[in-house]
Amino acid sequence: MLSDTHGNLEALDAVLEALADERIDRYLCLGDVVGYGANPNECLDRIIGLTSDVIAGNHDHAAIGRLDIATFNRYAAEAALWTRRQLTPAGRRYLGTLPYTWRKDDLFAVHASPANPEDWIYLTSHWLTDEAFDAMPGDIALCVVGHTHTPGIFEKRTTADRSRQIAATEVGMDSECRYIVNVGSVGQPRDGDPRAAYCIYDTAEKRAEIKRVAYDLETAQRKIRDAGLPEMLADRLEYGR
Ligand code: ZN
Repeated sequence: MLSDTHGNLEALDAVLEALADERIDRYLCLGDVVGYGANPNECLDRIIGLTSDVIAGNHDHAAIGRLDIATFNRYAAEAALWTRRQLTPAGRRYLGTLPYTWRKDDLFAVHASPANPEDWIYLTSHWLTDEAFDAMPGDIALCVVGHTHTPGIFEKRTTADRSRQIAATEVGMDSECRYIVNVGSVGQPRDGDPRAAYCIYDTAEKRAEIKRVAYDLETAQRKIRDAGLPEMLADRLEYGR
């Protein structure tokens, strides 16, 4: 499972290379394939070739004019307008077809939050995470999200009022608990670790693990600068912020 590639082809290729060494039956993409990075079309091509299990992110919608960029900060807005100009007609059409949510068996996926997916809520507080747990379909044990670019595992015991974050990058699921796993960001991590993040869910063992892989971030930075995108978008990659 991967999310928030944001047009960073070097990071995406490093993740796909790492995943090629694992036994992956199904790839799931949680949105924001484009926006910020210099290779939106190339990243879209990779994802389209990889899987049809793809959901929409807010930057995907901004890039096709479906989301008002007045809600974005000036760097994100500038990148969204740049991406809008770069996208091929086929890429634009494709982004317009993506659903807000995805589910299979006891796994549910949404870019931001299962509570009103189209509102792009950031799960940055206990309150909002609890709300997200309440909004999960009743038979769902695991919900995977992206959006904040901060990987994390949240657990809620069925008998408990509140959820808690687990201080680990891996969890074996307890049948008495439900989970929200933020898979982190491939192309623009913001947890202080510049390495690309992704997540593997073992459906047989019911284990989710967040993994990291280093990539050629100098090349990704150079492309952002050469494209005339905001300098800050290149700088932040090396800090993971
Ligand atoms: Zn994002």
